[in-house]
Amino acid sequence: MHNIEITDKIQMVDLKTQYRRIKTEINEAIIEVIESAAFINGPKVKEFQANLEAYLGVKHVIPCANGTDALQIALMALGLKPGDEVIVPSFTYVATAEVIALLQLKPIMVDVRSDTFDISAEIIEKAITPKTKAIVPVHLFGQCCEMEGILSVAERHNLFVIEDNAQAIGSDYTFKNGSSKKAGTIGHIGTTSFYPAKNLGAYGDGGAIFTNDKALSEQIRMIANHGQSKKYYHSVIGCNSRLDSIQAAILDIKLKYLDDYAHRRNKVADYYDSALKELNGIQIPYRHENSNHVFHQYTILVKNGKRDALRQYLNERGIPTMIYYPVPLNKQKAFEHYVDKALKLPVTEMLCDSVLSLPIHTETNDGLLKFITEAVKSFYD
Ligand SMILES: *Cc1c(COP(=O)(O)O)cnc(C)c1O
Repeated sequence: MHNIEITDKIQMVDLKTQYRRIKTEINEAIIEVIESAAFINGPKVKEFQANLEAYLGVKHVIPCANGTDALQIALMALGLKPGDEVIVPSFTYVATAEVIALLQLKPIMVDVRSDTFDISAEIIEKAITPKTKAIVPVHLFGQCCEMEGILSVAERHNLFVIEDNAQAIGSDYTFKNGSSKKAGTIGHIGTTSFYPAKNLGAYGDGGAIFTNDKALSEQIRMIANHGQSKKYYHSVIGCNSRLDSIQAAILDIKLKYLDDYAHRRNKVADYYDSALKELNGIQIPYRHENSNHVFHQYTILVKNGKRDALRQYLNERGIPTMIYYPVPLNKQKAFEHYVDKALKLPVTEMLCDSVLSLPIHTETNDGLLKFITEAVKSFYD
């Protein structure tokens, strides 16, 4: 019975308990926006923008409606031509590649490293053609890609770098010379998502675009606002993508806790690491020397074709798990006209068959983690 009591509470992400801890502050901020009736582009949006710029150490943050729009607008700002090639990992969320296809650009899907699950300079270099114009590295699961190498390939081939930072906001990347930058502020443009389950989650949809380039920031802001240069004067075809004031007010409060949230996620990851590292059947997450991890997900690699059996075993014990991601993007039906059928990405395929994400969030406790890790260990007994 004791176990059932614990398992009743196990969730991949516990947003209700997180809310309860900051409820008074959040409720007051929401009511303030409602009473001001400044729902769209109100002062809260500008305050959050300024606070996020300061937190990230980036010159320009442009809030928008969601992380997918952020990627789309970033690409639109580059002035690319139909058929231009954009390199993306095949092991990512669909949004990263979807927006490329939507803009009539060509997604060039590449494999990832089997340790970091991210793309690398070597992988990118092999995929470059005269038509390549941009690279979209994805800081998957909360840790930066090997950006120094990626930036140098990009520079050599004159390519734009757009970081899909939906999963790694708050993570720091350290260069060989010792300087460091926040994830999403390293390339030409960075994008993020404030989807509720993301590390900096709103209570609805939201997203943002980051850049240090003034001209790009102006272009991005214009595109996100109907291509408008001055009220009712439209210079380019844009879209309507806004972060609403209530979400901005919520995010502005949660931003103050972001480092604490990352710390809490790291404590969960440390617990999992030490409990699971001795299991031969499992590869625990790679820890990059040059990037700290904010553990959007704690994703293990389950060896010997045992992933689905382990998942089932944990599920029977009330422990939820998720598979991010079950199908390589190049194998998705939606992309059949964009990728060569014969394209083989062996690491991505192996990962899709082997990865398993365990519950990780800001509200766990040692009892819960013990229960989860004991269950994983007992599968291997
Ligand atoms: C969540 C996510 C997105 C999309 O964000 P939305 O706000 O849901 O549109 C894009 N890329 C990655 C890697 C993501 O995890």
